[in-house]
Amino acid sequence: MKKINRRNFMKSSVTGMAGFICNPFTDKRQGKNQKERKLIYRTLGKTGIRVPVIGMGILSSGSPALMRAALDAGITHFDSTAGQPQIHNEEMIGEVLKGVPRESVIFGTKIHLLQDYKTGLYTKAATEDEFLKKLDMALKRLKMDYVDIVYHHMVSRRESAFHEPVMKAMEKAKKAGKARFLGITTHSNIPEVVHAAADSGFYEVVMASYNNRQKNHKLVKEAIAKAADRGLGVVAIKVIRGDWKEDEIPVNPSASLKWVLQDSNVHATIPAFSNFEEMGVDLSVMEDLKLTASEKYYLKRVTSVPGLYCQGCGQCLQQCSAELPVPDLMRAYMYAYGYHQPVLAQNLIASLALPRNLCEDCSSCQVVCLNEWNVVEKIRDIIRLRDVPSGFLV
Ligand code: SF4
Ligand code: SF4
Repeated sequence: MKKINRRNFMKSSVTGMAGFICNPFTDKRQGKNQKERKLIYRTLGKTGIRVPVIGMGILSSGSPALMRAALDAGITHFDSTAGQPQIHNEEMIGEVLKGVPRESVIFGTKIHLLQDYKTGLYTKAATEDEFLKKLDMALKRLKMDYVDIVYHHMVSRRESAFHEPVMKAMEKAKKAGKARFLGITTHSNIPEVVHAAADSGFYEVVMASYNNRQKNHKLVKEAIAKAADRGLGVVAIKVIRGDWKEDEIPVNPSASLKWVLQDSNVHATIPAFSNFEEMGVDLSVMEDLKLTASEKYYLKRVTSVPGLYCQGCGQCLQQCSAELPVPDLMRAYMYAYGYHQPVLAQNLIASLALPRNLCEDCSSCQVVCLNEWNVVEKIRDIIRLRDVPSGFLV
């Protein structure tokens, strides 16, 4: 397959759009006299922030050239996760955005505090101070005075969405001008958390896994409709890169993006494209959400077929005799094989504080996965990343 670099990409794609691409204004603070482009924009609920339906999730160390090309192509919505050791993506983002008017981009960051992974509930380590400290450190690395959205990250229980120390920290951050809006993210037990966000009267944006691979996507859709109805901005994640050729159906990212954006209650997506080729596909969706015949055919074949996407149902957490964080390990597997970002997988594995020997004491595995996965096989495969020096991966 022909390799696409920044120069080729700009020639073949961006300059093709140059007639109507100008430096975009992204929300009402930025004035009305700017020329509207032909890209598809939606508004993140009552925040009033207008963004193109495609943003950019910067998960790994990222490429400055790719981020610059994204900016040039009209992407104005960027998102990252705070404080991932070895990755340095925040420093990269700070460098790229140096000299870019701060109001011309929307930037969100996600702060995660320690939870009991088995119950999804917070531990005593999850304090107000810890949250604020992590946000301050992120701002420093990003070289920003504020983020547009700070997210309470990786919530999987209603109780955790209302964890008081986190809510107090977020309120303080907003008052201090370090965050314009408050959000919450979830990728397991999604309907429950989205309902909690909608009921809270506190969160202004919800970022949730939503894709056609989910067995419960109708419940996710209902929860998202309620959140949008109550004025929350809705950002869909884990939309495409969980696709995988393992199921022998060639992946079709534009079909998956269009599928989720057909739901008008979804205001934005932030696909984590990691090369120019992926970026070109994702950008094409910014202008046209109409499904082609082959995309429709693809969706028909893969809807509710899990691919690499862990459903986040959590049943394995109760079944595994060693109490392993199986869903997190399956997510690491998806990062490596679906997103092609082994460093991200390695980072996630390192954060799990796993015992050295995994799955060695069971004569047979007790886990009956909703996706019918052989989880031991996947665990043994992905855990090999622990022994790879991170310098080989970054
Ligand atoms: S073999 Fe299965 S039950 Fe045993 S530790 Fe591994 S995942 Fe858990
Ligand atoms: S049972 Fe399977 S689908 Fe459900 S959370 Fe565990 S790994 Fe994911």
